[in-house]
Amino acid sequence: MKRTIFFIPLFFIAILIPHTAASAATNALFEQTVNVRSQASISSTIITQVHQGDKATIIKNQDNWLYVELETGEKGWVASRFATLTTEAASEQTIHSTVSNLQVRSGPGKEYKILGSISQDSDWTVLRSKGDWISIDYNGQTGWVASWLVTSKSLEKEQNSDTNKEVITRLLNVREMPGTENRILSQLPLGSVVEEMKTENNWSFIRYDNGQTGWVDSTYLQNTDKKEEEGFVTILYHATNLRSGPGLSYGVISQASVQERYQIDGKEGEWYRILLDDGRSAYVADWVVSTVSRLTTSPKLTSGKTVVLDAGHGGFDSGALGITTLEKILTLKTTNTIAEKLKNAGVEVILTREDDTFISLSQRTLISEQYLADAFVSIHFDSTVDPTANGTTTYYYEDGDMTLATAIHAEIGDDTSLRDRGIRFGNYYVLRNNQQPSVLLELGFLSNPWEEQLVNKASYQNNITSEISNGILAFLE
Ligand SMILES: [Zn+2]
Repeated sequence: MKRTIFFIPLFFIAILIPHTAASAATNALFEQTVNVRSQASISSTIITQVHQGDKATIIKNQDNWLYVELETGEKGWVASRFATLTTEAASEQTIHSTVSNLQVRSGPGKEYKILGSISQDSDWTVLRSKGDWISIDYNGQTGWVASWLVTSKSLEKEQNSDTNKEVITRLLNVREMPGTENRILSQLPLGSVVEEMKTENNWSFIRYDNGQTGWVDSTYLQNTDKKEEEGFVTILYHATNLRSGPGLSYGVISQASVQERYQIDGKEGEWYRILLDDGRSAYVADWVVSTVSRLTTSPKLTSGKTVVLDAGHGGFDSGALGITTLEKILTLKTTNTIAEKLKNAGVEVILTREDDTFISLSQRTLISEQYLADAFVSIHFDSTVDPTANGTTTYYYEDGDMTLATAIHAEIGDDTSLRDRGIRFGNYYVLRNNQQPSVLLELGFLSNPWEEQLVNKASYQNNITSEISNGILAFLE
């Protein structure tokens, strides 16, 4: 018997949409061999190639280049002119029931005859909708189901043509891809308005901050009537310098306070030109402001306390290297254990990173400011050229940090397993640029082979994390 195999080209299935609507497209389809590069430039390294019929998920669309994830999981840049942009979501609307036996009726209302029922685990093609009722292809006949008892990705969109959403958590991570294991691109403060472009397994693909895109946990978005207020910057730090020109060499003409908003008048390099209340222009660096609308004051819990724990390093920044230890991995482990212990004591704990992700120093202090942390504790392990150097050190930057430093040091300084190097002044960015009580702890030397072994031991980890959490608790009381 001769078997015939039908090949249905993917590009016939995908709905082709014009390049002008590219921002809504989520997939790229290739009709020829195309180089995938490490950067958005033809001079960058070729990582791999895609061939005719290959598909990729678009992560970012920027200046005629697409940052894509291939079916192999590899990521890279392709020139957008070689890709046909497609979206799958609109190709078919299906629903499934959210209840175990959803009645299917002959018409759009409860007064109509019951034709049968559908279970939760089957998908049904939508024919049309009328009021709160949806008609489906029910085994060849038209059946109607109550729209409030079904879910559908594309339907959610249709019912809510206004896709503006408001962030309802104090700081929402925007990630490169859906899933908490993926890289954090940005963090959106409470009250930010974003545009939800599609949802997938409780992750929302959003547009934010003047056209950037990324994925957020849909749980933390809610519908809103608010519009994204464009054309404003919000100051992120206390006593931010406003200068007469676009650079640090220009004179300071005024200072702005955290959460003040200014109208944007232009941008030169990394500097926004803004309008002051008295009509003058001033410049502010783009790294100290947010263009996300409405930075709202964090509702500070009166009953509870908030501690920001900062696991040092992460991502490409490994920190100190021992023989077998990467500082970034050990700090994360230690920090997570302290977090658990503090949470058990009823403290609200915020982590600057939850995974092996690179977070800039300014992002770390921004989180401290955003949450008005009662305490900010940065966790590190030490390293130096002298392999015999050993011990733990508690660093502070200003007098305001001293109470916290003393409280933690009273606990860890007593730990007999390591030498106590005491409380010391440390000119660290995360302390210097932190308005909240903050300390940086060095919990042993990875450059000392003996100490490297010790700090990795479960007994040391258990003791030191208890001591640190007890010290923090003593400070909070
Ligand atoms: Zn470190």
